[in-house]
Order: sequence, then structure tokens, then C-alpha cells
Amino acid sequence: MIILESKTLTKGCAMLNLPTMDDIELRHKNVLVRLDLNLPVMNGKVSDATRIIRSVPTIRDIIKVNGKAILLSHFGRPKGKVDPNFSLEIVVDSVKNALKRDVIFIDTDWTDVSKAKKIIDNAPLGSVFIMQNTRFHPGEETNDAQLAALMASLGEIYINDAFSAAHRAHASTEKLAHLLPSVVGRAMQREIRALSDGLDKPQHPVIAIIGGAKVSTKIDLIENLLKKVDGLVIGGGMANTFLYAMGVGIGNSLCEKDLAETANRIMDKSEEEHCTIILPVDANVAWKFEANAKHRYYGLDAMDPNGMILDIGPSSIERIKGAIEEAKTIIWNGPLGAFEYEPFDTGTNEIAKFVAKRTRSGDLVSVAGGGDTVAALAQAGVIDDFTYVSSAGGAFLEWMEGKPLPGIEALKANKL
Ligand code: AMP
Repeated sequence: MIILESKTLTKGCAMLNLPTMDDIELRHKNVLVRLDLNLPVMNGKVSDATRIIRSVPTIRDIIKVNGKAILLSHFGRPKGKVDPNFSLEIVVDSVKNALKRDVIFIDTDWTDVSKAKKIIDNAPLGSVFIMQNTRFHPGEETNDAQLAALMASLGEIYINDAFSAAHRAHASTEKLAHLLPSVVGRAMQREIRALSDGLDKPQHPVIAIIGGAKVSTKIDLIENLLKKVDGLVIGGGMANTFLYAMGVGIGNSLCEKDLAETANRIMDKSEEEHCTIILPVDANVAWKFEANAKHRYYGLDAMDPNGMILDIGPSSIERIKGAIEEAKTIIWNGPLGAFEYEPFDTGTNEIAKFVAKRTRSGDLVSVAGGGDTVAALAQAGVIDDFTYVSSAGGAFLEWMEGKPLPGIEALKANKL
């Protein structure tokens, strides 16, 4: 059995110290709302409208008091130029469907907003507008003060409801917040609270499950987690680097051998921080990286030198479940195996279902995030059973790394 030493010291939750929509009068106001409408598109249609649906309460709270909601967002990477392939018009129907009302699309290149202003002024109270892609202007990504001033000229209040874009200091996520009375939107507030319950002021014991391909992309994240969590489950391809550093034979598995020293340093530090690292003890091994490849389970004391570890094995799954049984909070980023290929999704699926079951029974707070993690949890069919699943990729990782997010810091600095 894995005994977790529960950390008693938790850091305060400075992030929640933000002005919210309850702190400001929205009645009859023109309100700029930064959303993340950079939605996945398949065959010319939005394939997942989760982010819009989560922001509906923000928009409703503006229009129900006859405010005008002016939605701002980036879409794709048009590199600071007007490019019809990246027009935000593509999301208009999804926003209409989510709100069950009409919205007005305003096409602008963001060099002159006088026409946009007229459209907004002439529309009835309670209207909703979607502005053209903020990245059609090069000043968006350079956090340009002039562009932010043009944006600010369209509204009286700024609401940031795009947690997933908060790690970028762009004109519509950072600079703009300094120019108008600014508050956090309903969806972003909920997301920050959920993430904070997972890591900033969680119930202990806390376990982090970190998987994915490479250690190199997650060193800062692991270093920050060691200070905060009681147990750290390391799975996926990145576990191989730790096993290699310990002298375990890993055959032809994905491994960053040059990071063996880093892995050893992390393991030493985990002892100082009283954080138990839980590594796989067995593995599902294949000889080809493809779905339904010939595979066999090996204990990691007797690995085939030609094989590749593509998933954790049954004993590892049981160990991780045992640790989860002791935990009150789980925070998860990264799949435990090559989950895109059957049967190497087994470890991720089993652990996801176990976390979901304990969350449903009220024994666990579970927070997960990151692109591949959301896909893996969706595949396991458990997204709705977790306490919170963040669709933010980069912002979720930077928050887990303990870095300040410019979009949030700007709201904190705001004087209403
Ligand atoms: P990341 O973007 O770092 O979270 O990595 C996710 C990717 O890691 C997924 O595409 C998985 O297929 C891959 N992955 C997880 N475990 C392994 C493994 N044991 N060997 C190779 N790739 C893996």
C-alpha cells in the first residue's frame, strides 16, 4: 500500500481575489466580453461548442439588464493579417444556438472601428455582437496599446471570460483590461475556482497524475507540483525517462535519455518535499506503435529489450487505484499510455473510470485539463463525472506550473 504523507501547509488563493460581474453595474452598458471562440472546426462547422456554452451565463447576465454584449475573440493564426479563412463568422451559428437568440456579426479589420461603433449604437438594447477575429490586426499579439484603445472605444466595461487565453498578454486579454473597469466573467470565475480547489487550497491528500509523451515539456510543472501535492503518479512515455534514470531496462520505449539527471534530481527533491512518486511497475509492451499491435504484459524487472512500453500494466493500475483511494483531491494532466491506440488506452480508461466513480460518490474532488487529457477522458466517457475538466491547454499547464497568467493579473490590477 502507498502511504501518502499529507501536507498541511497550503498556499492562499490569491487568484480568487478578483472583481466579478457582481461588483459592477451592467445595466444599459456596452460590455466588451473576451471569449475564447477559437473552437474546433470540422467540415466547415464548429465540432465542439463547450466553450460558448460555458460562457452563456456571462452573456445572459449582460443582456437581461439591457446591456449590449460585444464579443471579442481570436480564431486560428492569421498572423496579423485579414484572412477570410480565419473569419470568426464561422462561429456565429453556434453562438446563436447556444444563446437561442440572434447575434450581429461585425466584420472589421481593426484599423478603424467607427463603422462598428455605429452598428453597436444603432442596435437595440440587449443586442449581442461578435466582432471579427482580433488577430486580423498585428497589434493583438504584440499587446499593442493603440489597438487596445480602439477596442476600449467600443465599450464601457470589459469582462474576461476566456481562461484558456489568459496565459497570453495580448491586446484583448491584457492591455484592454487596464483601459476599462474590468471584471472576470462567470465561466472564467468558475474555472479559476475549480482549479484553485484542485491545487491552491485543496483537501489533502492530493495526488497529481501526470502523463503524456515527454518529460521535457513538463519539468516546470512537475517541480511546482512536488511542492504542493502528496503523491505524484507519473505515467505515459515520460515515466520511461524516470525508469531509465533508475536503471530499469525499458527496451525501445520512448525515452529522453539526456534528461536522466533531471529525473534523478526530481526524485531527490520529491523526498525533501515529502511527495511520494508513484511510477509504473509493469507495462503493456508492443513491438509496433499502432492500434491492436501484438502486445504482452511485462513486469519492469524483466522487460523485453526489443519491446516498447505503450501503456501501464495491471499491477500499476492497482497501485494507482490504491493511491487514489487514499486521496481527497486529484489533479490530472496527460494520458497514462498511447491512448489513441487500442488496447493501449486501457490504463488511462481504467484510472479515469475509477476517479469518476469516486468523484460521483462524493469521495474525491477531481480536476483535469490539457488537450490530450480532455480527449482521453472523453474517450473514457467520464468528462461529466469529474468535478471540473478544463478545456484550456496552455493556460491550464501554466497555471499548474504556478506561473502568473497575464489575463488574470491584469484583472487583479484593475481598480473599479
Ligand atoms: P502530451 O501532449 O505530452 O500530453 O502527450 C500525449 C501523447 O503522449 C499522446 O499522443 C500519447 O499517445 C503519448 N504517449 C503516452 N504514453 C506513451 C508511451 N508510453 N509511448 C509513446 N507515447 C505515449
